[in-house]
Amino acid sequence: MSSKRIAGPEIERLIQLLAKVPGLGPRSARRAALHLIKKKDQLLAPLAVAMADAVDKVRVCSTCGNVDTSDPCTICTDARRDGSLLIVVEDVSDLWALERTGAMNARYHVLGGTLSPLDGVGPDDLTIDRLVSRVAEGGVKEVILAVNATVEGQTTAHYITDQLAGLGARVTRLAHGVPVGGELDYLDEGTIAAALKSRTAF
Ligand code: ZN
Repeated sequence: MSSKRIAGPEIERLIQLLAKVPGLGPRSARRAALHLIKKKDQLLAPLAVAMADAVDKVRVCSTCGNVDTSDPCTICTDARRDGSLLIVVEDVSDLWALERTGAMNARYHVLGGTLSPLDGVGPDDLTIDRLVSRVAEGGVKEVILAVNATVEGQTTAHYITDQLAGLGARVTRLAHGVPVGGELDYLDEGTIAAALKSRTAF
């Protein structure tokens, strides 16, 4: 229980915060902290500045829900993207995973989660209304539901399909390659790209 402190409060705090980063446990956090401290000028100081900048400038795009340093975000304002193609994802991490593949030149809509009645997450907790408005405004020819292959993801996909009915956009979903229960962020680029290319009508 009583873990003896081996460093001053500033270093202990750095370790505690790093331990909350996904992929870092307490042991890796300690190793990371030590590395940062040893590379104070090359790494720790520039990282502190980069983080302070991010804290100042990061915002959520009021159109698509992406995170960026401008609102609307870089993707929403990129005129070279095909505005008739809208890819719906659960989380920003999924958007980034899809962008890594470079397979699509589309715009996105981040839901902010999935419907989960057991956890008290209903349609109002997600950005489904805003998605319906975007499609209702016209110009969107296809909505690709790139939600995860979980029960909640598929429930959400069905709900959205119902909400978009009659708005004139084709609704499709990712096809083969996405394993049941699979989360996009953990798939390799080739698998995601294949799933996008072989999408099917919902
Ligand atoms: Zn955006």
